[in-house]
Amino acid sequence: MPISRYKTIYIDMDGVLADLDRRLQDLYPSVDFTNKDMWWPCLNRMMAETDGFCDLQPLEGWTFFEDLVHLYPETKCEILTSHGSFYWDPLIVGEQKKSWLRDLSVTLNSIPFNVVAYGEAKAFFAKPDTLLIDDTLKNCEAFADAGGDSYHWDHKDPNRFAELISMLGGSYE
Ligand SMILES: [Mg+2]
Repeated sequence: MPISRYKTIYIDMDGVLADLDRRLQDLYPSVDFTNKDMWWPCLNRMMAETDGFCDLQPLEGWTFFEDLVHLYPETKCEILTSHGSFYWDPLIVGEQKKSWLRDLSVTLNSIPFNVVAYGEAKAFFAKPDTLLIDDTLKNCEAFADAGGDSYHWDHKDPNRFAELISMLGGSYE
């Protein structure tokens, strides 16, 4: 059995497991999302007009994280996500995300689920033996500044699985 050098691995949801960008594009096809100023207003609209985070598609390769839960028996995997905005009820957002996980995967629904108020607050979980996997660079940087390790996930990078496993130790096929 491979042994990773981390006691706990924290897994982000949006941009790692769930395709929030695609959901926004599908809902609001006339919006130009290359203009970053459009992102938050559209996310607010999504929260007001739909079931919010319940209806996202999983990102390609998400099953890697199911495997990761089992790959290192001595390492704990946990979900670490954020509410996103103070304008939304954190309990509702947390329930939407939890229900999404419940529909997605028995394995990922069974690991601890942590929600923080905003992305950089994930740094409160940082310790020398922890790793954060997150697609937002400033969250990764905040986590590393607080003493943890981070891996900046890019769901379009074909090398991401191999890179992460080589960082953890062991092999993945
Ligand atoms: Mg994210």
